[in-house]
Amino acid sequence: MTRAYNFSAGPATLPEPVLRQAQAEMLEWNGIGASLVEISHRSADFIAVAAQAEADLRTLLSIPDEYAVLFLSGGATTQQALLPLNFAAPGQTVDYVVSGHWGKTAVKQAKPYVTVNVAADGEPGGFRDIPARADWRLSADAAYVHITANETIHGLEYRDVPDVGAVPLFADFSSNIAAEPLDVSKFGLIYAGAQKNLGPVGISVVIVRRDLLERDGQPRADIFDYRSHAARDSMLNTPPTWNWYLLGLTVKWMLDEGGVAEFARRNAAKSALVYQAIDGSGGFYRNEVAVPVRSRMNIPFFLPDEELTARFVAESKQAGLLALKGHKAVGGIRASLYNAMPLAGAQALADFMRDFQQRNG
Ligand code: PMP
Repeated sequence: MTRAYNFSAGPATLPEPVLRQAQAEMLEWNGIGASLVEISHRSADFIAVAAQAEADLRTLLSIPDEYAVLFLSGGATTQQALLPLNFAAPGQTVDYVVSGHWGKTAVKQAKPYVTVNVAADGEPGGFRDIPARADWRLSADAAYVHITANETIHGLEYRDVPDVGAVPLFADFSSNIAAEPLDVSKFGLIYAGAQKNLGPVGISVVIVRRDLLERDGQPRADIFDYRSHAARDSMLNTPPTWNWYLLGLTVKWMLDEGGVAEFARRNAAKSALVYQAIDGSGGFYRNEVAVPVRSRMNIPFFLPDEELTARFVAESKQAGLLALKGHKAVGGIRASLYNAMPLAGAQALADFMRDFQQRNG
């Protein structure tokens, strides 16, 4: 068996020890005579697994007690639709800063329910920079301000948490949660689909300040109500138990490896290798994002033409570097370097890039 380096944007590469443990426990978990995926979510065994995953995530991200942590089925897009339903009164305005494709998606999901004020929009500039805080036109009475902490397709990442005053800041951390230390107390709500840094697709994490759960929001079914999910420990209905278990293993692995400070160090080193290969290529490779907001998780870059791009994708695959084709919205190449990608993977990519340029430049 050969596991290649997998640069997929998500679902993405997982830590090999996590996959091995899941494999070993597939037929029988912990001597109970059944797989964990075959038992009730209300069993003491599963409840212990779920509680441990939450405790470990709280440790990993230093989540204060005044925040609830929800584990929900559905992806990040589902949460984007639930935000206005749970936290904005009918007719209330919500502020969105759009810095790429996923910020646009967040606006689209909110629009049926509330008045969306796009406080700043990077699209006229081709999503090459995050709109400067000084240029945001925030509303006086917004229910919340929404940002996308890392734009997975366009490759931009906030380096600092913007100050939005007393209005709660909501952030989509789908593609950079646990990539570096995070001051949760600066946010009203953080959400993330798990399928990049936290484990498998099919489960999302929502970290929400408990006082915000008291807001009435808008008429909605119980199943769309974060307060109900919190009251029932995310077991209002059958949760995605297998995904929750895998998420727990992945979080435990991150703790064992040294936690988010260690991953910040590794992610800086990995992304530097690839950006150096781009910047040192004399223009053969191009990344168009403003340097201060370049993402360490997702690096989009371009070659001189389509033919070279296609050859790069085909030859990199041959060389054991998977899923480097860029998203169709921007084209080119995209390398995703999540926490489970080892430094050797980024090094192999940088080496391949130099070699490819020598042969084709
Ligand atoms: N936000 C961001 C930043 C993402 O990267 C993605 C998925 N790539 C989404 C939202 C949508 O997630 P999902 O497909 O889980 O709904």
